[in-house]
Amino acid sequence: MIYTYTQQERGISFEEDSHANKVLRTVCREVEVEDISLVRLISETLRKELYGTSTGIAIAANQCGFDLRVILMNTGRFKDTIMINPQIVKARGDQKFEEGCLSFPGLKIKKVRPAILNIRFKNESLCYETHKINGLEAVCFSHELDHLNGKLLIDN
Ligand SMILES: [Zn+2]
Repeated sequence: MIYTYTQQERGISFEEDSHANKVLRTVCREVEVEDISLVRLISETLRKELYGTSTGIAIAANQCGFDLRVILMNTGRFKDTIMINPQIVKARGDQKFEEGCLSFPGLKIKKVRPAILNIRFKNESLCYETHKINGLEAVCFSHELDHLNGKLLIDN
């Protein structure tokens, strides 16, 4: 789902009228037990979208029109990994990285992100996993978590 914006919007003002923009601006809700069949559909959709691109390494549910806290990562140790209700438990340090986003084709923006993260999520078997990550994995995880909170690459 591609966000439509004007050059003027970057850091200034937003037109939040289109459906796609509204979902991308939604704070997604936690996945509950009764959402599990929906999570299967979301996972299938995220895989189709992500692997249909040549450059994407991660995607969030609201980039595909779903307002649930689910992301798909495919980088580093997280090969084809669905993360349900992902959370940052602890963040340390800073790193600067030039980021892109599937919802903003062609756009690259330098962002400062935490260098090291302790994270927690439920995997597709609904078991909790905890990891300590850094580098690109940490950038990627923070970027996708921002999506689930309605925050985008063009925001400060
Ligand atoms: Zn993105």
